[in-house]
Amino acid sequence: MSVTAPVTNIARCSLHDGPGVRTVVYLKGCPLRCQWCHNPETWDARPQMLLLPQKCIGCGACTERCPAHRTLDENGPHYRRESCSVCGACADVCTAQAIQRCGEEKTADEVFDTIMRDAHYYRATGGGVTFSGGECLLYPTFVGEIARRCREAGVSCAIESAFAVPWEHIEATIPYIDLFFADLKIPDPEKHRTYTGQDNQRIIENIRRLSHKDTHITIRIPVIPGINDAEEDICGFAEILKTMGPAVKEVELLKYNHLAESKYHAAQETYHAFADAPQSDEYMQAMQNRLAGMTGLTCI
Ligand code: SF4
Ligand code: SF4
Repeated sequence: MSVTAPVTNIARCSLHDGPGVRTVVYLKGCPLRCQWCHNPETWDARPQMLLLPQKCIGCGACTERCPAHRTLDENGPHYRRESCSVCGACADVCTAQAIQRCGEEKTADEVFDTIMRDAHYYRATGGGVTFSGGECLLYPTFVGEIARRCREAGVSCAIESAFAVPWEHIEATIPYIDLFFADLKIPDPEKHRTYTGQDNQRIIENIRRLSHKDTHITIRIPVIPGINDAEEDICGFAEILKTMGPAVKEVELLKYNHLAESKYHAAQETYHAFADAPQSDEYMQAMQNRLAGMTGLTCI
């Protein structure tokens, strides 16, 4: 029987997370809780209900289907999370998609079949597949199985990971992965723990080990205003990057943005805002130049 893993979404024809046209497979479950995460619906590995009350048209179908957990009054729809079985019956009758069930156990066969529907686009554009999340490397057997079959079919695979997993999970996928996106979030271990839930020792050690393998790593740094963009943070990143091996080919600095706020409300998680607006291009360019000058690495 084909191995399974919890999937939140399979985004086809994406132009992000690698070259060309890609299919991005989002897996559910993550050991970290980064306060700026863009996918809070992927934190818990278990299925969950997402609530989007702004889409509600007040039809009352959900309350008829599940009066114990769904009510509707003049203030809109209400949800009693306690003892909800996450069966999804309310979402099935919500034509406005104001309620959605997030997280479905999928087989490697199913996901591979979906991936291969766009094989002609990958060939035409130099694209492929990216496994993301959540933390896709919580499921190395699942990811490895799909990536192995993609490799046999001539489809390139990438992994986007925070690397807060046992080294064996990473090692198992190396033969089938062409590109790793590895997140570095905060250089200081205790500050890292404060904002993500864990320190960064295992993450750095994993990236360092991988950086001495025959592969390609792009380091990604999400630049969070007031959290990891001070001079001491930039120096800290540079010190870590200088210890990496030749597989680290470039460093990508990611601008802060607010795009995920509605997802936090839908997933009933606490949203943290770190700034009112993204950084300017000039600000990002200056940080890229500073880091490139300190490390000799290409910074984009
Ligand atoms: S998911 Fe199932 S139990 Fe939960 S509110 Fe909807 S119908 Fe009721
Ligand atoms: S079924 Fe959907 S649209 Fe209708 S009342 Fe419930 S949440 Fe609102």
